[in-house]
Amino acid sequence: MTPRLAVTGATGRMGKTVLAVARERGLDIAFAVNRDADGEHVEGVPVRPSAEFEALLDEERPDAVVDFTGPEATVAYAGACATYGVPLVTGTTGFSEADVAALEEAGTAVPILVGANFSRGVQALLDAVESAVADLPEYDVELLETHHNGKRDAPSGTAKVLLDRIEGAREGATERVHGREGEAPREAGEIGVHARRAGDVTGEHEVLLAGNHESLELTHRAGSRSVFAEGALDAAAWLAEQPADYYRFETIASQL
Ligand code: NAD
Repeated sequence: MTPRLAVTGATGRMGKTVLAVARERGLDIAFAVNRDADGEHVEGVPVRPSAEFEALLDEERPDAVVDFTGPEATVAYAGACATYGVPLVTGTTGFSEADVAALEEAGTAVPILVGANFSRGVQALLDAVESAVADLPEYDVELLETHHNGKRDAPSGTAKVLLDRIEGAREGATERVHGREGEAPREAGEIGVHARRAGDVTGEHEVLLAGNHESLELTHRAGSRSVFAEGALDAAAWLAEQPADYYRFETIASQL
């Protein structure tokens, strides 16, 4: 099925990329919105103010919404999607527990899919890290992520998913240690987490395992935002045909 899509955050870094990849694929865009839109076009698509989102959903009834904005906006869009019966795919990161609960609630009415990272390489990284951590139970684990200087949340949503997988594969207690300063000797069970923000780096994640006079580094580098847009659009086509539920990209990516 080729879905007819709505795009939110349309003038943001990811929104623009989603519209560019959608154009390359020849997809039909029902409408695009952004906060404070002021008559601009992205990839030939007129961008409407996000205050009109509900009215546009009602009028256009797209097959799915693709959202890359911020937690507050995503939760509001998901609520509107639940009202109008429209599936929503979101790549937004930085959700609080209350935000996740609100998205799960929307998922009782319509299909909602969240993905902290829509790249296929990162999905393979998650599996590789889980396997390496399970195979090397005595080794120290440290995580380093690097993103552009405009990223708001830290550590990245992808880093949090990696940490969940690492903790799941580790026996015994673990503790996330965010950066180190001063007298800070490493304790058993620590997982060091380091976030760098610089320039226009699209996204890098590295997991280091070290022990027994050797080290193993598992690294993913995104070369272009289009890898995330491609995955989100694949997910939207899939989601448009699913029943209402709350889905996570990492659990369905292998089906795409
Ligand atoms: P950005 O700041 O360039 O764009 C965000 C857009 O959303 C902006 O146009 C902004 O005006 C709009 N927006 C933000 N809050 C809003 C609100 N309350 N109401 C209406 N519009 C609002 O950011 P970006 O780099 O495009 O990233 C957006 C989100 O996507 C971030 O959470 C980022 O971490 C995430 N992201 C996810 C993936 C992935 O694969 N899942 C990849 C890259 C980025």
